Amino acid sequence: MFAISFVHLRTILQEWLQLLNQTILDTDFSKGRLVQQQTITLDDAVKFHGHLCDGLVVGFLGLSEALFKLYPDSIIDRTNTRIISKSSPCLTDIAIYLTGGRYQFNTFYVSDSISYAYIVQRIDNRKTYAVKLKPGIKPSVIDSLGNLANIGKLDACGIDSLHKIENKFLQHMLVSHAQQAFIVEEITNFIWNPHLQNTFIKTDVLNKFKMEYN
Ligand SMILES: [Zn+2]
Repeated sequence: MFAISFVHLRTILQEWLQLLNQTILDTDFSKGRLVQQQTITLDDAVKFHGHLCDGLVVGFLGLSEALFKLYPDSIIDRTNTRIISKSSPCLTDIAIYLTGGRYQFNTFYVSDSISYAYIVQRIDNRKTYAVKLKPGIKPSVIDSLGNLANIGKLDACGIDSLHKIENKFLQHMLVSHAQQAFIVEEITNFIWNPHLQNTFIKTDVLNKFKMEYN
């Protein structure tokens, strides 16, 4: 029953997911020039990430706000952007998808020691912005139940409840004004200090074998 209602929700959201988009700029072939402009939608990000979730929506909206500061014409140059992300599997996927950042090319790394969701920098002029959700926007129950799920203490019924709460929150985010939901701050003299770590926990697969409650 819950699965059906989620499909229904997904259908309702489909139009919003297509409407929420960003214009990006890349090179046009393996040795090409910077002329490849295209639009990527939140729905594209859902396919890349694997599911629609509140973290994906928060990441997409919040990072977009920071990128608008770096690129006032709203065309994101994915050959000129590097980013640090918190370790959330949802946030990190948005980070690399929207900016083109990759660790192996010194344009992406993950750190939970930053006090923001993202710190993003233009490579050519070193302008740097940090972004995070304003306190109180996200219902605290999402993190408290989420933390229980991460340690295997949330039963199937609890997982379903958390799913519903997250969906309600992400719908709220989709219709709210992103400018008012996020703190975006310029960081001066930011030091890019990449490090490689492969011990972060992919929290969105921890409960993958827990049966649905109904
Ligand atoms: Zn996710």
